[in-house]
Amino acid sequence: MTNTRSDWEQRFQSLTLEGRAFIDGQYCSALSRDTFECMSPVDGRFLAAVASTDEADANVAVQVARRAFESGVWAKLAPAERKRILIRFADLILANQEELALLETLDMGKPISDSMAIDIPATANAIRWNAEAIDKIYDEVAPTPHDQLGLITREPAGVVAAIVPWNFPLIMASWKFAPALAAGNSFILKPSEKSPLTAIRIAQLALDAGIPKGVFNVLPGFGHTVGKALALHMDVDVLAFTGSTAIAKQLLIYAGQSNMKRVWLEAGGKSPNVVFADAPDLRAAAQAAASGIAFNQGEVCTAGSRLLVERSIREQFIPLLVEALQAWKPGHALDPATTVGAVVDQRQLESVLRYISIGKEQGAELIAGGNRTLEDTGGLYVEPAIFDGVTNAMTIAREEIFGPVLSLITFDTAEEALAIANDSIFGLAAGVWTSNLSKAHTFARGLRAGSVWVNQYDGGDMTAPFGGFKQSGNGRDKSLHAFDKYTELKATWIKL
Ligand code: NAD
Ligand code: MN
Repeated sequence: MTNTRSDWEQRFQSLTLEGRAFIDGQYCSALSRDTFECMSPVDGRFLAAVASTDEADANVAVQVARRAFESGVWAKLAPAERKRILIRFADLILANQEELALLETLDMGKPISDSMAIDIPATANAIRWNAEAIDKIYDEVAPTPHDQLGLITREPAGVVAAIVPWNFPLIMASWKFAPALAAGNSFILKPSEKSPLTAIRIAQLALDAGIPKGVFNVLPGFGHTVGKALALHMDVDVLAFTGSTAIAKQLLIYAGQSNMKRVWLEAGGKSPNVVFADAPDLRAAAQAAASGIAFNQGEVCTAGSRLLVERSIREQFIPLLVEALQAWKPGHALDPATTVGAVVDQRQLESVLRYISIGKEQGAELIAGGNRTLEDTGGLYVEPAIFDGVTNAMTIAREEIFGPVLSLITFDTAEEALAIANDSIFGLAAGVWTSNLSKAHTFARGLRAGSVWVNQYDGGDMTAPFGGFKQSGNGRDKSLHAFDKYTELKATWIKL
């Protein structure tokens, strides 16, 4: 049975919101006692005073994480034991699905139905998948001469810090902590200051599941304080990041200025979605293009924000696209029927609206949406927008907007489409729609992107790696490849 909006309101009344950091198995205030206010973009309500941790707290957390790592209390547990505990963690997340979904929605604005159907189950699934994998991965024996034994083993890297964004707060975190914990590392999670509440909440669930104290720590706070302190720390072995390309570059500098920690970056995107005239189903392509820009308020790293449409089907396609966008109307994020929730905060809202005016100024034609709406809720809502007549040189085709603003670019040939698709500093994802098998493969090969979708947009699960080419990042989340980030390879030569 689906909860109604008033069911969710009632649930909210009975919540006690935790806003403190979690270090060494317990909640604690920032050493400075500083807090910041966490307000909901859904309707402006006050949620919690959240600990604003800084360098001093980072030092404590790293020390605690290091001590837990060296003690072997987690790192030296049999993989099957870590698996058992992590599966219990996944189960506890599902057992608290409604509370976590409510926190995720109120904190960052996404529709409650998405939090329930996607964010919380996907988080549990990421933990379970990595847990299930960890007692099935074997190390290697090198093909040595007869008098040598060469062992190639993976060891946990040590202390892993992760800095994550606000668009899928728990999912993005779980893509990092699930493989890192499964591999035996100690972990420090720095959630976005815009969406800290679920990260703080699951720390208790991790402890309840049996993850030893000191192994999973959460430091809420700002990027330029606690985030920077972790990135500059001399005793953090690995820094895993998801966020903007600008901050990703900064983290590489911090690593170079400190201990050369491994830095793994999942950064921004400006993904092309290319519809050829011979697409198998134009209506399906239009629906995917609409969801590809409106889902999660367009706050998706892989949003198909550049829609490339072949000229011969343009006039037929645009009405299908505008119609498909009707399914994506902003509504109160706690209403179970809502498909487009609130934009994360005032600054992000202003940024989206500014890009919409830049699009108009540069000569693109706004053919749908683009207005702020539902102001009476006290929340931050904007109608998904479509620009026609966009060229790839325009600002709205070059910069990541991270909001529901679609740029429609018309092309004539496959060569031209590929050149436009690849003409971006980003290379996160791409879509191509055609019923010609050879064309699909050739085009997919030519695309410089970490994920390519053919005759669909935004498919995939835990089984395939996820990450970017070019300035969209390095390394990969998900799949067994993710373990590469959190393990060191050791070669041991034994003379026989
Ligand atoms: P952001 O880069 O502003 O912030 C990300 C995180 O970095 C936050 O936790 C923030 O506090 C922290 N941070 C900021 N300044 C810092 C500093 N100087 N030192 C250390 N940490 C610092 O990004 P955002 O606005 O939170 O998220 C949106 C971005 O995330 C978009 O660019 C989007 O494409 C990207 N993203 C990428 C993926 C992916 O997998 N490639 C997935 C989701 C989001
Ligand atoms: Mn928030």
